[in-house]
Amino acid sequence: MKVDYIIVGLGLAGLAFVEQLIAAKKSFVVFEDASQTSSLVAGGVYNPVILKRFTPVWNAKEQLEVALPFYSSLEQKFHQKFDTKFVTKKVFKSIEDQNNWFMAADKPMLSEYMDPNISHQKYNGVLADFGFGQLQGSGRIDTEKLVQTYRDYLDKESKIFFEKFNYQSVKILDKGLSYEDIEANRIVFCEGFGVLQNPFFKELPIKEAKGELITIYAPELAIDFLLKSTLFVLPLGGHYFKVGATFNWKDKTSDPTLEGKIELVDKLKKVLQVPYTIVSQSAGIRPTVKDRRPLVGKHPEFQQLAVLNGLGTRGVMIAPVLAKNLFEHLENGENLDPEVDIKRFD
Ligand SMILES: Cc1cc2nc3c(=O)[nH]c(=O)nc-3n(C[C@H](O)[C@H](O)[C@H](O)COP(=O)(O)OP(=O)(O)OC[C@H]3O[C@@H](n4cnc5c(N)ncnc54)[C@H](O)[C@@H]3O)c2cc1C
Repeated sequence: MKVDYIIVGLGLAGLAFVEQLIAAKKSFVVFEDASQTSSLVAGGVYNPVILKRFTPVWNAKEQLEVALPFYSSLEQKFHQKFDTKFVTKKVFKSIEDQNNWFMAADKPMLSEYMDPNISHQKYNGVLADFGFGQLQGSGRIDTEKLVQTYRDYLDKESKIFFEKFNYQSVKILDKGLSYEDIEANRIVFCEGFGVLQNPFFKELPIKEAKGELITIYAPELAIDFLLKSTLFVLPLGGHYFKVGATFNWKDKTSDPTLEGKIELVDKLKKVLQVPYTIVSQSAGIRPTVKDRRPLVGKHPEFQQLAVLNGLGTRGVMIAPVLAKNLFEHLENGENLDPEVDIKRFD
């Protein structure tokens, strides 16, 4: 078999890059071995403001300008709904919190999203003595549905192998490369945290940030916005809510843990006072980078090999714009954004 590209990994990064290939009529095959779960378990939230510090998310506007039409085009392609837009309500913990919100809401890049007024509306079961700050421009991509839909689509087109990509079988040729019985011009590696097994890119400074979530059923809770305190409570419909997420910098497994569940339940007590049952728990590893910027670019020696990784905590917003940037770089020689280029770690 002869193809233009081999893609390793079909999470948010792989999917966004494959869409570039399809748009440009390039041929490709994908390898996916279900070793990582990040894109399947993600909250899928996009939000232009960092709600811990009330500062803008890096390049948020540019990213959303590419990402929202990207997901909308996938909705049309598959006749499915992936994107749910909603308001986010940040629970204030103190008067100081309210003042910080008020000051931030006046700043450029934030004023279009942050409502300067403090809301004191009451919601059954929600504890918010100091009220809420309201944020526009946020929403959620149902990443599990999107990734599964995309994998099914590639499967029907016979363009995905559900098997582990075996790095030892890559042979670099003068022009292009071979992998078992496949000849290709390039490989783009999109393995998330799995890149640490990749001999070509394993030196990249990926740091594991394991995250856990629970899904709860709370029949008396009736909110249609994302509630944000030290965790988020995300409405899924039918009184189901996703609650998350934890951060664990040591555990390298994607298994849900009792510690994760206890942490989420403890934090939930501080913001919710309604009965609920936990219906499921999930976990995954966010591929984060020490300087909190993605990892994109070509291998320093083998130009046929490229990487698209380091999406960190914001894969939904970042993946589409990065995939575009990498594709233009590989095919048309356009410069990569130096902030994301892996050359910064040479
Ligand atoms: C609990 C949690 C909550 C999150 N919430 C949000 C959120 O609300 N909003 C947001 O934007 N982001 C969120 N994220 C982050 C987001 O999930 C990531 O940024 C994104 O999913 C990373 O996508 P990826 O494609 O780079 O990696 P992955 O999703 O890890 O995909 C990599 C794929 O490569 C495959 N693979 C790896 N090695 C091989 C191999 N050798 N052969 C074949 N296949 C291979 C893996 O099986 C996997 O499917 C969250 C993450 C977690 C864990």
